[in-house]
Amino acid sequence: MLYLAISATLSENIKSVRVKDSVQEPAEYTFQISCNNCREVNPAPVLINSVEKHDMAGSKGEASFTMKCKFCSTECSVNLNHFEESLGAEPQISKDKRKKSGLAKLSTDSAAILQLDCRGCELTKFYFDNNLTFVVELVSGNKLECQFDQGENEWYDYDDDAGEEVSITDFACEFFKGK
Ligand SMILES: [Zn+2]
Repeated sequence: MLYLAISATLSENIKSVRVKDSVQEPAEYTFQISCNNCREVNPAPVLINSVEKHDMAGSKGEASFTMKCKFCSTECSVNLNHFEESLGAEPQISKDKRKKSGLAKLSTDSAAILQLDCRGCELTKFYFDNNLTFVVELVSGNKLECQFDQGENEWYDYDDDAGEEVSITDFACEFFKGK
């Protein structure tokens, strides 16, 4: 199982950061995908959300995303599920569950937000600066929304009530192979 983990440096007035994602308004996660059979990278990035389900070719199962490789015609699929909810907040997932998922080595400052079951393909890049909104919950109780500009991994805003700058810097993501 593949996990997508995010990490960042949060200003002290931030309580938590999570992707704005709900059944009513599902977030579209953008990935670079490559075929395990021919190793070719799909020419275009793909969008996957946690709500849509597609029938998998040749089986009765369903997946969040299915694709036929443009180069070798191998059928592949990805099932996307939420895992840890947010960055910065109290850990919502126990150490035991992390361990069971093979994530014991993942830094406690990171959040494994997605669990990705990839069949016949691999996800090789995550574009967090594409089309994704993060909800930033402040210690003051206020909430801000954050979108990263293309190619940027930092974000600045202002909490008017507290008169303080709010910042997310060094935002990074990595894929982690777990169980
Ligand atoms: Zn292929």
